[in-house]
Amino acid sequence: MRDDRENAVLKGGHEGMKRKLLSGNYQRVKAISLAICLLQGMIVVSYLLGIDERLRHIQYIGMKGLYIVLVLLLFIFDWLMRDREKSYCALRHFVLMGYVVVIVLWSVFSTFFAQVITSDISIYILVVFGIAATVRMRPRTSAIIYAFGYAVFFVGMPYFQKTPSYLLSHRMNGLILNVIAFMISWMFYRYSMREVQQRDIILERNRELLYLAQHDGLTGLYNHSTIHLKLQKLVEESRRRGTVLTVAMLDIDAFKHINDTYGHQYGDQMIKALASELKDFFVPKVSVGRYGGDEFLLIGRNMTAEAMHELLIQFQQETTVAFSCGVATFESHSVIQLIDEADRNMYMRKAEKRVAISAGSEEAESTNRWMQ
Ligand code: GH3
Ligand code: MG
Repeated sequence: MRDDRENAVLKGGHEGMKRKLLSGNYQRVKAISLAICLLQGMIVVSYLLGIDERLRHIQYIGMKGLYIVLVLLLFIFDWLMRDREKSYCALRHFVLMGYVVVIVLWSVFSTFFAQVITSDISIYILVVFGIAATVRMRPRTSAIIYAFGYAVFFVGMPYFQKTPSYLLSHRMNGLILNVIAFMISWMFYRYSMREVQQRDIILERNRELLYLAQHDGLTGLYNHSTIHLKLQKLVEESRRRGTVLTVAMLDIDAFKHINDTYGHQYGDQMIKALASELKDFFVPKVSVGRYGGDEFLLIGRNMTAEAMHELLIQFQQETTVAFSCGVATFESHSVIQLIDEADRNMYMRKAEKRVAISAGSEEAESTNRWMQ
């Protein structure tokens, strides 16, 4: 059974799906049209070179020329619409369906005019099966197009094929041909719809997995490996281009005590609240990740240490969570050295705070207002 997410993709993705089916239709129709064009072109060349006397019939040859013009028009239209796929989806769909109807009619009339040369309906067969195999359209649409084509074929054939046995055979074969073509069309349509839907579901799941792999489950911030990778890239960029890069390591004060006093759940809520405040305050200027436990790593691209300090002081005034932080600016460090320097600065700050606590200073008393 499909879960809710699958249902949402199936429902919500209808427009996107139509677009995907349509662009596939264009590619296939263009390919098969070109193939048939080649065949028609060869017949026209045979006529021009006078290879086959039977080709002298002007309507017959005229239909070949007309086909080449129709294909050319489709290519020109598709070329004109090449950059407007999204907004002109409806127009492209309309033109493609129009093209299909015209080509079916063309095959019917070609078959009529061919009756003076040959008593078969191969052009009609070729086109109807060609469309069934290449154009993905709704069963209702295909039924209407095939029925319309066959009606013209049925009514018009007696004017071109006078032999009763041939006429009966053409009408019967035409009917069977259209029924089979409709079934093929329907089958391909269902298969394609399912394929596109499955692809969308897989893409959606991949996106979710990627998110889970890159983000921390508790806070939604970048996790350790992602923020590390980000820093690695930015360090390389700074090394190459000489851009300024500053990092800050931030650690909650006396977090063990909070856990011990109020419980782990409470501690979790505190980490989440701080993460959300960090995100609101720093992102997108600064990238923020949970480095581990109660430690957060901030990366300021094109940011000086002074600017980072200033932001941290502002943030410290806004948040109710007491933390300490250390800043380091890239000079010629490796990633590890840069993080180590920020870490050392952060621990120095913590040590200073502890000294202040034992001296009984006001600032040090401010352990964690979040707790209150
Ligand atoms: P300091 O001021 O020196 O940072 O003291 P501290 O108590 O905060 O010490 P430290 O940063 O070394 O310890 C962090 C503690 O955070 C250790 C661990 O039990 C706790 N911790 C780590 N991850 C989580 C978490 O996801 N949830 C909760 N509730 N606690 C965590
Ligand atoms: Mg801590």
